[in-house]
Amino acid sequence: ALTTRSRPTQSEALPAMPPAIEDEPLSPPTFLQSVNHFFTRAASLTDIEPGLMDVIRACNSVVQFRFPLRRDDGSVEVLTGYRAQHSTHVLPTKGGIRYAPDVNLQEVKALAALMTYKCALVEVPFGGAKGGVCIDRRNYSTEELERVTRRFTHELHARNLIGSGKDVPAPDYGTGPQEMSWIRDTFSQLNPGHMFTAGCVTGKPVGHGGIRGRQSATGLGVFYAIRTMLDQPNILKQVGLSSPGIQGKTFVIQGFGNVGYWTAKFVEEDGGKIVAIGERDGIVYDREKGISIPALKDHLMGNNGSVENFTNEDSPTVRVIPDTDLICGIECDVFVPAALESVIHGDNADMVKAKIIAEAANGPVTADADEILNERGGIAIIPDLLANSMGVMCSYVEWSKNMTGMRLGRLTKRFEESHGRHLVDVLESNGINLSKQQKNNVIAGADEETHVRSGLEDTMIAACEQVVDIAKEKNCSLRDAAYVKALESIAGHYSRAGNWP
Ligand code: GLU
Repeated sequence: ALTTRSRPTQSEALPAMPPAIEDEPLSPPTFLQSVNHFFTRAASLTDIEPGLMDVIRACNSVVQFRFPLRRDDGSVEVLTGYRAQHSTHVLPTKGGIRYAPDVNLQEVKALAALMTYKCALVEVPFGGAKGGVCIDRRNYSTEELERVTRRFTHELHARNLIGSGKDVPAPDYGTGPQEMSWIRDTFSQLNPGHMFTAGCVTGKPVGHGGIRGRQSATGLGVFYAIRTMLDQPNILKQVGLSSPGIQGKTFVIQGFGNVGYWTAKFVEEDGGKIVAIGERDGIVYDREKGISIPALKDHLMGNNGSVENFTNEDSPTVRVIPDTDLICGIECDVFVPAALESVIHGDNADMVKAKIIAEAANGPVTADADEILNERGGIAIIPDLLANSMGVMCSYVEWSKNMTGMRLGRLTKRFEESHGRHLVDVLESNGINLSKQQKNNVIAGADEETHVRSGLEDTMIAACEQVVDIAKEKNCSLRDAAYVKALESIAGHYSRAGNWP
């Protein structure tokens, strides 16, 4: 029974002989135990045989290593890094690199497992992985972060844990395009003359093998997921909302990093009212007018990331609440946790006053909180593996582009230049009917970002609709339904491959 009311701890000692299968949730559940609890609950709704379930659930490998950093003042500090590869049923494995002070073994294993499930859910042909370094990046200079990143890449490379066909990192909490550029460059230096080294990492800057639209992709996907769910009659009925759509709905967003910012921006542009945004040192709150996303972004940029003293001359009602823990209890239609895991736990799940929780972060709701919220009823949770899956989907497009050396849109642009007519005109005048997606892709021409966005939109709408259908058919939560779809796809893969030898 999941009756815990205290906050889960983040640390886990490295066991001498880890069990093949993680235990069921303890009190309080760790992140990994929560993920495995969700897995087991969903697996019971499928007819996947138990042995195969164990194969899927187990983390294939996890490496912990220590390496030195020369600080700017000449002193030396020893850092801890991790890389977990949860599932190698498809290669490369894929998943971000996190820089945070409490990165730990069970956390990277949980995050790697979620990568496997989210890739399977949206049919991205990668296995799941995740890595990290235990540092608070705010305490390090840019030069120090560069040395950390390059040495971390070397540590991965020395263990055969990076490469376009092996394991491909990406940004996660605390890392971004700059770190990805350093990873690419270091890997390329270590493999001179190799083809496709650009595909050893995704989330790179556009001018260094990246793709337009990657930075906004996760937030855009979260927005598409919310918009699609707010158009589903049975979801609206379940949560007691009388009208569909984003327009006029109230939102609370926790975390204004890359994912939180872009989600907020797209929600605001579509007419949603963002009444609260939680950051590290306070909650910006404005129920009357809603928070201006550009104004808050400008404030944070000019104020060292602090919400302190945020004002907006267009809104006298905006204020800052110093107690960040209050965020879960703010009344709204949609709550978007977009920072770290385990923020909604056994102790505060009862406080939640949202109708929909959109998990932009990985693992924001613990297993015990999930049970409490399901029991309460009237709340729909759009699970992480669905809500934030467009990040890795976009990474897949970036990687595919790197692996072919092709610039998206180049062919249609060339066609137009040499024929004086757009390819769509020619196709349509020859009686070829194109779907909206196909047309968008062709029309996109040289515009890579339009191409990427339309692909993400179609993929997310289809994935949400499938999950809603499974939830209806099995009479289960959206989380269970998303896991069911992912697990059935992975199980199919493993059964066809068999166990070698
Ligand atoms: N770190 C992101 C996630 O959790 C992106 C992973 C990727 O693009 O490989 O989904």
